[in-house]
Amino acid sequence: MSFWKFPVNWIYSYIEVLRDVDRGSGPRGWEIDRKMSDKILDEIFSRHYLLPELGREKQAMLLRSHVAIVGVGAVGGRTAEILVRAGIGTLTIIDSDIVEFSNLQRQTLYTWGDAEKRTEKPETFRRRLNEIMPTCRIFPKYARLTEENVGGLFKGADIVADGTDNIKTRYIVNDWCVRNGVPYIYAGAVGTRASIFPVLGKHGCLRCVLPVPPDPSALPTAGDVGIIAAAPAVAAARSSTLVLRLLTGDIPEPRWETYDVWHGTHSSMSLEMLKKHHGSEKCELCDNL
Ligand SMILES: [Zn+2]
Repeated sequence: MSFWKFPVNWIYSYIEVLRDVDRGSGPRGWEIDRKMSDKILDEIFSRHYLLPELGREKQAMLLRSHVAIVGVGAVGGRTAEILVRAGIGTLTIIDSDIVEFSNLQRQTLYTWGDAEKRTEKPETFRRRLNEIMPTCRIFPKYARLTEENVGGLFKGADIVADGTDNIKTRYIVNDWCVRNGVPYIYAGAVGTRASIFPVLGKHGCLRCVLPVPPDPSALPTAGDVGIIAAAPAVAAARSSTLVLRLLTGDIPEPRWETYDVWHGTHSSMSLEMLKKHHGSEKCELCDNL
């Protein structure tokens, strides 16, 4: 794409989003479209244009992309905010929780008033995100993800990002994404630690590493052992960056990353090492596709 053509194509992409009949509750329609001059669009994403990793053409790819996020708590909420500010065009947010006071320490877009009113997270979050970026088309889904509804909830998504703290849900997401060829970024945080792992299809999924989901009662949760707000911030920073890379055609190597934000330590393990240490040579899911 030549440089001079870019703003025109950018606007065309934007108009395509607004014309979609199955519109989310995000964009306020043509009123905003008219106001969105090339100059404003350039200003919003000017820092991305300077990055050799992104630039103008890849920014246009982000506008045409659709990300689904399972859970908009600390990890998923920050991931969603980073991606919406980064200019993704469409976002589906799925959560079955209401806002509580215990969320406010780390779930950055919810307020005291939301917790008092015990509002539903997806619609509350959509409202905040659309105040930040009214051009993003957002589908809030107040639902618990199950094997039965996962396909409908992820309809049209190019990629799925993790924001849940439920291991059973993660395996449902993993299995659906691998079967349907949709990348999935596992991300979680508890205590002072963050973990991230990109599931990029066949022979690199959660079941390759751990064939069956571990017993939930054996896994520590934020409600049991606590959590520092910086841990989900790091998980979201890495998760959202992996999403941006994948959406712009830059495929990362699947590695299991862990960060301890309190102690400043970090480890990264290749898929081969993970399989060797924790899994088996065969994967019940990947090897039976
Ligand atoms: Zn597998």
